[in-house]
Formats: sequence, C-alpha cells, structure tokens
Amino acid sequence: MRIDLRSDTVTKPTPAMLDAMMHANVGDDVFGEDSTIAELETRLAVMFGMEAGLFCPSGTMTNQIAIKAHTQPLDEIICDQLAHIYNYETGGWAFHSGVSIKLIQTQRGIIQANQVLPCIQPDQDWLPNTRLLCIENTVNRGGGSVYSLNEMKALKEFCSAHNLIYHLDGARIFNAIVSSNYTTEDLHGVFDSVSICLSKGLGAPVGSVLLGKKDFIKKSRKIRKVFGGGMRQAGYIAAAGLYAIENNVERMKDDHYRAKVLGETLSSLSYVASVLDVETNIVIFSLHEASETKKFIDYLAKHDIHAVPFGGNSVRFVTHLDFTEEMLTRVQEILKKFTLVN
Ligand SMILES: *Cc1c(COP(=O)(O)O)cnc(C)c1O
Repeated sequence: MRIDLRSDTVTKPTPAMLDAMMHANVGDDVFGEDSTIAELETRLAVMFGMEAGLFCPSGTMTNQIAIKAHTQPLDEIICDQLAHIYNYETGGWAFHSGVSIKLIQTQRGIIQANQVLPCIQPDQDWLPNTRLLCIENTVNRGGGSVYSLNEMKALKEFCSAHNLIYHLDGARIFNAIVSSNYTTEDLHGVFDSVSICLSKGLGAPVGSVLLGKKDFIKKSRKIRKVFGGGMRQAGYIAAAGLYAIENNVERMKDDHYRAKVLGETLSSLSYVASVLDVETNIVIFSLHEASETKKFIDYLAKHDIHAVPFGGNSVRFVTHLDFTEEMLTRVQEILKKFTLVN
C-alpha cells in the first residue's frame, strides 16, 4: 500500500470526477466559447462575491497574474517571509513584474495589521512605491495555519486606509473555511483579488481560478495569454474543478481530523522534538537533529510511506482525499516502530 503524504497535490481523479470530465461541454476558450470554464469562473466569483473569474493552469500563474495586473515596475509588494509567492514561485514577482518585495516576520505566517505599517515606504525618489499586500490562507509553510475573519478584515481596513491593494493567495482557502466559523459570504468585499487552487485538497487534477473586479479580470486575461496560459478545450479540466467544489469541500473535515490524529501520534513519540499545532491538513514537526531527518524519511520510504523534508530538522505531512483511514492506521504503526529501531 503506497501512502503519499508529500502534498495534497498528489491525488488522482475519482471515477465520478472522471465521469464529470468526460461529459463536459467544451469549446475554444481563447475565443471565449467554453461553457464549462465560464460556469466554473462564474460559480466561484459568485461564491466569493467577486464580479468575474479566470481559469488558469496553476496557482503560481494566478498569483503572478494578480501581481502583474495590480502593479507596475518601481512598485513594492508586501508578504510574509513564509509566503508561497516569495518562496516557491521562482522569484516571479521580479521576473514578470519588475517589483521588489518586503517581507514580514510573523507567527506561522499570520500577518497582523500593526506589522504592516512599518513596511510602507515613504514617498522618496530612492524608495519603491508600496502597492500590494498579499496574504496566504491557509499558510502552507506555517503548517496550515488559518486566519480568523477579524484578522483578514483588520488587514482590509488597513489597506483601505493606506491605499494598498489586497490579494489573497487562497490556494487552500476551503481548508480555512471548513476549519473555521466563517463562510465564503463572509469574505465578500474583503479582498481585491483571490486565487484559489482546485488541485490541492479539492482533488482536481489541474487548475486554479483568479477572482476580482471585471476590469481586473479583463486585464488578467490578457496577461494570462502573454504568459502562455490561454487554453482551448480546457472545459474537460474545469469540469473536474466544478465537481470538486460541489463534492469535495465538506469532506476536507476528514483530512483535518486525520492530520490532527497524526499530530497527536507524533507528539507522543520521543524522537519527535515538536509538532506545530495542527489546524487543517498540514502537519509540520521536527526531530531532535537535522541528521535524523534523512534517516526518518528513508525509513518511511522503505515502508512505502512518502514525506518531504521541510528544512532543517523539520518534516511535513499533508493529508488529502487519497489518504484513507486504513492508511492512517498503517502510518501510526510505522511511526511507533521507529522508536524501537532507533
Ligand atoms: C500550491 C500553492 C500555490 C500554487 O501552486 P501551483 O503548484 O503553481 O498550483 C500557491 N500558493 C500556495 C500557498 C500553495 O500552497
């Protein structure tokens, strides 16, 4: 039994999802003729209280398009030092948009409004123009940490007061919503743009959607084209996204539960130094020595359990649709045995 805890991107479409894909109505989306893509874009836009949506191949593309559309060269964007936009998008902010970046250091990637103020540049010839605040919810490198509604709204007020544009990297926004007491409606009017991944916990094979105002999405559509992201009969993959938002949101509770159980098991093991409090489907924990990490990951791999090192002595597990209750039991057994062989 292969068990893959490297990421929630490893899931494969279920027969029901494949069936929905097979029966999609499609057309050439560069000509604006794919009704399934249009339906997905509209459905998510309405859900999040936005005017329009744009279907893209990846979350990197939706984030990078947002940065490009919101800024011009000599601008600066603000994000947390743990942000995906900063760490895992190949420095795209500089490459595509010619902007600089200001990093904030926080607890688990949750930015508080009072931390942003010192990041705003005074109007001087030798300083870039502070333009855009990007937050991430949930925070991947923060161990799946979740913003409260109040925290997101306080940042919105701050942005309005200081003339900043406000972007949400919501790759895992549904994980945040399922684990919290807020809904998509509560987010209406909060962000200028939102990026959502369909290929993470939602279980679709490909795709992300960017949401925002009509003119922003019009501009973004053109940027998507120049990035090489204009797709043709991509309704087949958009259909998987539609299926996912209809069927795979509530079930994320199972992923969160299994992550929590993994966190508890890990906390009880003497070779584990610490475990970040599990809030959603990501478990980040550390061993006592960095040198133990490779041994531990190799040991798991020998038992066909796959995980990634997460810097220093840290390891990350991510639960998802293809990680079952049976697999959870198996992982617990194997984790417990490592104490014995060590
Ligand atoms: C996965 C992810 C993205 C987008 O990644 P792609 O692999 O390009 O789809 C963006 N932000 C966060 C926080 C992510 O976890």
